[in-house]
Amino acid sequence: MALLDTTALRVTYGGLRALDDIDVTVEQGQLVGLIGPNGAGKTTFIDALTGFTPATGGIRFADQDITSLPAHRRARLGLARTWQSLELFDDLTVVENLQVAADRQSAGGFLLDLIRPRRARDTSAVERALATLGLEELRTRMPGELSQGHRKLVGVARALTAEPQLICMDEPAAGLDPVESLALGAELRKMVDTGVTIFLVDHDMSLVLTVCDYLYVMEFGQIIAQGTPAQIRANERVIAAYLGEQGDPNDHPEAPA
Ligand code: ATP
Repeated sequence: MALLDTTALRVTYGGLRALDDIDVTVEQGQLVGLIGPNGAGKTTFIDALTGFTPATGGIRFADQDITSLPAHRRARLGLARTWQSLELFDDLTVVENLQVAADRQSAGGFLLDLIRPRRARDTSAVERALATLGLEELRTRMPGELSQGHRKLVGVARALTAEPQLICMDEPAAGLDPVESLALGAELRKMVDTGVTIFLVDHDMSLVLTVCDYLYVMEFGQIIAQGTPAQIRANERVIAAYLGEQGDPNDHPEAPA
């Protein structure tokens, strides 16, 4: 069943068509990837999906037409995102970083704090997010004490506290070494097993070819290929652009600039 569907999604910046009639489908319970070189339009696509940039065309999410909804209403329906630049609060512990995100999402939480400052918080979403990503033991650590890989996982956990149906992730593996990237991939697969659907944008070909169920390849604002990782590895246009003659992602782990 399709959780998300875009039809002829288009974003224009001045004279530039950053997204040129994009049709993408994300099936419920899958990990769907989007790859492409710098400037292809990947972040613009996430911005358009989540309501952070105006777009024409159609977006259906969870059986609703969300094309004209503002970002906060899309988020409330269960459409979450992570950002390329990971900003954690450095003076808060891991669990407090998640709690802040959960409080922001809970309706009226701020007002309730003013009225009843010592009220008991519902911490279940935070605890579930920590458990899903295996971060329980790091709960009292400060972000500055964590590896880059763990910091990224805290960023993902923060998005999970909203208990979304779909998380769009913008280059979560950026800045990670191959071992950390592999560990992140394993955590993403575990998340999908708990019922969350993931739309993953990344440059790390090894990661996306290993963890995704289905992939789209974008160039100059257009989808130039789509299919399973096996189909993408065999696609001649993709091989020529990214994978080298042997179709081995380790030949060219980064997409070309
Ligand atoms: P990267 O991998 O470097 O993050 P990307 O595939 O995410 O690249 P986008 O950031 O979506 O690409 O950019 C797509 C095109 O739109 C680029 O040519 C970019 O310069 C342009 N662009 C993006 N945001 C804006 C904006 N706010 N105003 C004008 N042009 C923009």
